[in-house]
Amino acid sequence: MADDKNDSTYVPLLSEKHSGIPQWLLEKAQDAKAHVLSVKTKTDNAKPRTLVYPPGVDKSVFDEAVGDLRELLGADQVVLNDLPLEDGWYMEHPNTHDMMYVLDQDELVPSAIAYPGSTEEVQQIVRWANNYRIPIFPISMGRNFGYGGAAPRVRGSVLVDMGKRMNKILDINPDDYTCLVEPGVSFFALHEEIQKKGYDHLWIDTPDVGGGSILGNTLDRGVGYTPYGDHWSVHSGLEVVLPTGEVIRTGMGALPGNNTWQTFPYGFGPYSDGIFSQSNYGIVTKMGMTLMPNPGGFESFAYTFPKEEDLTQLIEIIRPLRISNILENAAQLRHVIQSIAVVGQPRSTYYTGEGAIPIDIIHETASKTPLGDHTWVYYGMSYGPPHIRKYKLDIIDAEFKKVPGGRRIDPATLPPSHYFWARDRIASGTPDVEELRWVQWVPNGAHIAFSPVSPIRGADATRLIEIARRRHHECGIDLLPAFIVGLREMHLIVEIVYDRTDKKRRKAALDCLRAMIQDAAECGYGEYRTHLVLMDQIAGTYNWNDGALMKFNEKLKDVLDPNGILAPGRCGIWPRQYRGRGWEMTRESGESSQGNGVAAD
Ligand code: ADP
Repeated sequence: MADDKNDSTYVPLLSEKHSGIPQWLLEKAQDAKAHVLSVKTKTDNAKPRTLVYPPGVDKSVFDEAVGDLRELLGADQVVLNDLPLEDGWYMEHPNTHDMMYVLDQDELVPSAIAYPGSTEEVQQIVRWANNYRIPIFPISMGRNFGYGGAAPRVRGSVLVDMGKRMNKILDINPDDYTCLVEPGVSFFALHEEIQKKGYDHLWIDTPDVGGGSILGNTLDRGVGYTPYGDHWSVHSGLEVVLPTGEVIRTGMGALPGNNTWQTFPYGFGPYSDGIFSQSNYGIVTKMGMTLMPNPGGFESFAYTFPKEEDLTQLIEIIRPLRISNILENAAQLRHVIQSIAVVGQPRSTYYTGEGAIPIDIIHETASKTPLGDHTWVYYGMSYGPPHIRKYKLDIIDAEFKKVPGGRRIDPATLPPSHYFWARDRIASGTPDVEELRWVQWVPNGAHIAFSPVSPIRGADATRLIEIARRRHHECGIDLLPAFIVGLREMHLIVEIVYDRTDKKRRKAALDCLRAMIQDAAECGYGEYRTHLVLMDQIAGTYNWNDGALMKFNEKLKDVLDPNGILAPGRCGIWPRQYRGRGWEMTRESGESSQGNGVAAD
């Protein structure tokens, strides 16, 4: 395996492995891997490590517990994590740690990894965890990069990696336009299966890179770029193992013999799905998802705008167009520095001085690219047959050209390798791997995001960019901003790309993020999703009425998970056994992820 990881021609195929790449993307993935290897300056430490035990569990209890778990699942399905920490890359990612670590590499590590093969085995693991008071942390595929990857929040938890053995597409219904999947089904896999079955009338929605699990991405409220891009809002029905081991089906799934689990999300009574997303209240073992009808045609478009200040006018133009669905997808407004970074050359190609790269250099570089010089570029797509598209595209053209210097890019002038075509594929439901390229902006590149939510207003966009710019400047970090416009809100996504092997750069990234989160909260903005190490801080900003929401979340946690075994601390929700013992990671608490023990009972 170690050799495979350094052989740029080897990429696992989907036909060999649930987390592999489809054959038709192989060449591109090989290219991406060669690219990752080319900027890697440090070799992985290949030495086995000392095992990290779960908090409050000593070696003898742990050994006994692991023995029991092996009896339940089979000896091969429980692996001790004394393994070397090899970062790998997107397609060969580890489940031993967070590959894009922002703390020390061995801070967020599990003690062991368990591979259940069925819902019943997940229930057995949960009961086992309650018996031994061992924290467990479920993942689907562990490709939640920038948010913690496969790592648990509590050091020494047992990772429950479901993807390896629970990766079936249980159903694709071509009449209802729905599917039902297990945790280990990637966007690549669902796309391939739909193609194989010849269901041309069905589209999936995919995020920027298609290797993550549909289920994990949706639970973490990830997004894609077709009109079905808000994955959580288009899922229908969950099967969940509760922290005490019972299994429930939500919505219509609770009605025996139903045939509407994937077509009507609510069922009867309280809509319980919400508590299982961005939480630690259950392990989801099946999820229904609706599929988009092929709209009968699509056409990507891109516009560039010359000046930083154009942002305000542009966002004001976008708002009514997006809310009325003339702009139909969660499109992207990206900054010129991203246009350069996504080409895939490291920043040292353009600049080797200290601090953030000067903007003049970026503009000069952009002027030599097919998009020409610009400050903002909008990537969008129009759906439907030509006459329907024309109606919408004409309105968009007239509106966007109200910005002085606003320019429509003629796609015919862009080479097939241009990033525009990756956006074109993604927005029409074809997964890709192109987006990875900007991570190589620095050697040993990793990324972590600041992603506040605001209304679609020019003044908010400007205020948020100013916060980000000031803090990036202070920390000497290149600012890579993009706005993702949902329907009535937008996320500013600022990806900090840092050399993960450089402690100072990791600290700069974390300091910058913590400062931006606080600044944004002081102006009334909160983040929609975050990395494990920032969850406490961000949860702490949602503190209206003396933290009433967190008190409610904690009450739920204590009732549903009385022994506090399921993903303690995820999304800032700590079970009572951990509360008041300094487990929270905040701006003041430094960089240790650990608290002062766990209450016995
Ligand atoms: P990806 O789909 O990108 O591979 P992950 O499997 O890493 O995503 O999932 C993202 C996060 O969502 C995980 O870290 C975990 O906290 C949570 N999660 C993932 N799958 C499940 C699941 N089946 N049940 C409960 N929580 C899950």
